[in-house]
Amino acid sequence: MKKKNLDWSNLGFEYIQTDKRYVSNYKDGKWDDGSLTSDANVVLNECAGVFQYAQTVFEGLKAYTTEDGRIVTFRPDLNAERMMDSAKRLEMPAFPKDRFLDAVTQTVKANAAWVPPFGSGATLYVRPYMLGSSPVIGVSPAKEYQFRILTTPVGPYFKGGAKPITIKVSDFDRAAPNGTGHIKAGLNYAMSLHAIVTAHEEGYAENMYLDAATRTKVEETGGANFVFVTKDKKIVTPKSSSILPSITRRSLLYVAKEYLGLETEEREVPLEEVPEFSECGLCGTAAVVSPVGKIVDHGKEICFASGMDEMGPVLKQLYDTLTGIQMGRIEAPKGWIHVIE
Ligand SMILES: *Cc1c(COP(=O)(O)O)cnc(C)c1O
Repeated sequence: MKKKNLDWSNLGFEYIQTDKRYVSNYKDGKWDDGSLTSDANVVLNECAGVFQYAQTVFEGLKAYTTEDGRIVTFRPDLNAERMMDSAKRLEMPAFPKDRFLDAVTQTVKANAAWVPPFGSGATLYVRPYMLGSSPVIGVSPAKEYQFRILTTPVGPYFKGGAKPITIKVSDFDRAAPNGTGHIKAGLNYAMSLHAIVTAHEEGYAENMYLDAATRTKVEETGGANFVFVTKDKKIVTPKSSSILPSITRRSLLYVAKEYLGLETEEREVPLEEVPEFSECGLCGTAAVVSPVGKIVDHGKEICFASGMDEMGPVLKQLYDTLTGIQMGRIEAPKGWIHVIE
């Protein structure tokens, strides 16, 4: 198979239309067989549930080429399960796990020419999503749904090294207790746009959101979970029912314990405690770990010992081990690497 002629290492994170996408429709209480299509446009009734009341959920994972030339995805079973949880919370039908895995495999295979070569640092971003497709005007769940998967090649997250970022403690809330913070719903992102645009205007790369009820505990950023390192090298991640359960975070905790022999703690993290940590990072599919050098809390600066030049040593070790597992340099736990071809 001949790869597309793209400047892989210089791609950004922008939509590039690829050849095929997957579509399955839900009607009269069941999903149809699903198929690949070349049509990148979605044509729906003007009153579709997704347009009127934002009934839509999504997932994000990447397909990439390992050192030995295989095209793989990382723990897609967890994306399938999380999407089922997200759908349930928005009164949408679950797309079955085996169907999800098959659909990811079919879509990536059909776009194999768009999967960046090993060593480029680029990946094929895979975006499964589901939306209410039938007309809804009185507030209620739609009766019909569409599940789709699109793919788009994206460049290396860090061009020229992982430079620590500066973030701010936000005055906006991302998620309410007992709300939808724990599911991957478009609505969580719509309401975070004003907060992130404001943060960018003020010169910050990201927002640190606190728990909405007491505004004293660390939750997450708009699209990544926090991971902290204590002075005695313990890995700490915030625990809350309104945090999105990041697959990267869960994988990092496993790697810390089982590969690096580090102690891990998943617990509430008071903002007050944050200055005591020696390293701070954000974790998610896109960057795996992205280092935070400084957090600004209403004029008060929290500067981590790891500084503003490079990722701290413990996070670096975690990052190297997890990306090593992903790329096939380090033996993966059973079931983590899903081979496409
Ligand atoms: C997707 C997402 C993450 C990261 O999850 P991964 O599974 O690691 O990619 C973190 N926070 C939010 C709000 C998200 O939507």
